[in-house]
Amino acid sequence: MERRSSQPPHLWAPTPPSAHADGAAHRQRWHRRTWQLHQSVLLSHLYAFALLVGYSWAGYAPWRVIALYGAWVGAGMGFITWAYASGWNHRQRDPGLFVVHQGVSILGALGLLVAAPQLAFQALVMLIAFSADGFLARSRTSFAVTWVLTLACAGAGIVWMGPEMRMPTTTLAGQLLTVGVVLGAVARCIGLVTYFRGVQYRLGQALARIEDLVRSDDLTGVANRRGIMEALRWHHAQTESQGLPLSVALLDVDHFKRINDDFGHDSGDRVLRTLGTLLREQARATDGVGRYGGEEFLLVLPGTSAAQASEVLERLRARVETTAWAAVFEGAAGVTVSIGATVCRPGESVEAAVRRADEALYEGKALGRNRVVMA
Ligand code: GH3
Ligand code: MG
Ligand code: MG
Repeated sequence: MERRSSQPPHLWAPTPPSAHADGAAHRQRWHRRTWQLHQSVLLSHLYAFALLVGYSWAGYAPWRVIALYGAWVGAGMGFITWAYASGWNHRQRDPGLFVVHQGVSILGALGLLVAAPQLAFQALVMLIAFSADGFLARSRTSFAVTWVLTLACAGAGIVWMGPEMRMPTTTLAGQLLTVGVVLGAVARCIGLVTYFRGVQYRLGQALARIEDLVRSDDLTGVANRRGIMEALRWHHAQTESQGLPLSVALLDVDHFKRINDDFGHDSGDRVLRTLGTLLREQARATDGVGRYGGEEFLLVLPGTSAAQASEVLERLRARVETTAWAAVFEGAAGVTVSIGATVCRPGESVEAAVRRADEALYEGKALGRNRVVMA
């Protein structure tokens, strides 16, 4: 995927790693969310039940119907709560017990519609609210079951009880209760949207973190090859359109194999890490620094001519040479680098420029190392 933003790809400061999500943490999070969701469902059932009791009190529905409805939903929710608490749900294919949740709610609303058609408005709003939960389904089957069940129940209920269906608003109490029904439905929609907003936000964060990881080098903290090549392409297009020079340099540690062989791979790694830090410190904010290969770094210097690059890189080379390497790994006699650099030519590919820098680097090695060679 190519970047098309006007900002250079941010390269050598990946965000700090957050707590890594292992299996146990993921399960725990799932458990917590499932409970939270269950609690919100319980709360909305309680709210709906309170309104139904109100309707019954206001004389709109026989209390027996309301009690039966309460018993049905209460038993269903009681069963789910027991299943969550005992861990029984984890032995099921759908540990969230989504279909049970939906079955209890939707069949309950159908029962209410048929047994108390004078409360049809309440029952239909409840059906719609419950069906919206279908968006939380984890599988396509649960999703389909929810919507088919809702439509079938609403359709069957309306055809069956049609002429007797009422909107209970003939008294002030009925009117207020009906406002309560609408309020509950709106609150439920807000809750659902808030939940999905949260999911969207977390996904965005995860994506940004993945993008960072994909472009950064674990060991040194600078960009990896993919990241620095992307930055190079971006700066190439940018400087070409602005008519500015773009310098590219390859930096390679001299006799790195010896460091590994004589002092251990760990010391080698420490050298690479120190170099990563040093390059990052020395680079300007607009420069790009990346690990091109094993002990090779690629530097991208936008707006830098050959003469300027030569000066900057020579300073860098000297800085590496004069670093107190004995503090980095025990027994260190010194570490030096060779640098090959070039200025991108108009119209040429970035790969061609890197190849020329590599040839210059090779020349520097042949000339005795610890030097900067401009192609
Ligand atoms: P020259 O001066 O010609 O560059 O000699 P050199 O020994 O540096 O060159 P060579 O390319 O032969 O050696 C590179 C070594 O870098 C070989 C490899 O084992 C080592 N290397 C590559 N990646 C890593 C790494 O991540 N950590 C460590 N410690 N060593 C690495
Ligand atoms: Mg080397
Ligand atoms: Mg090398």
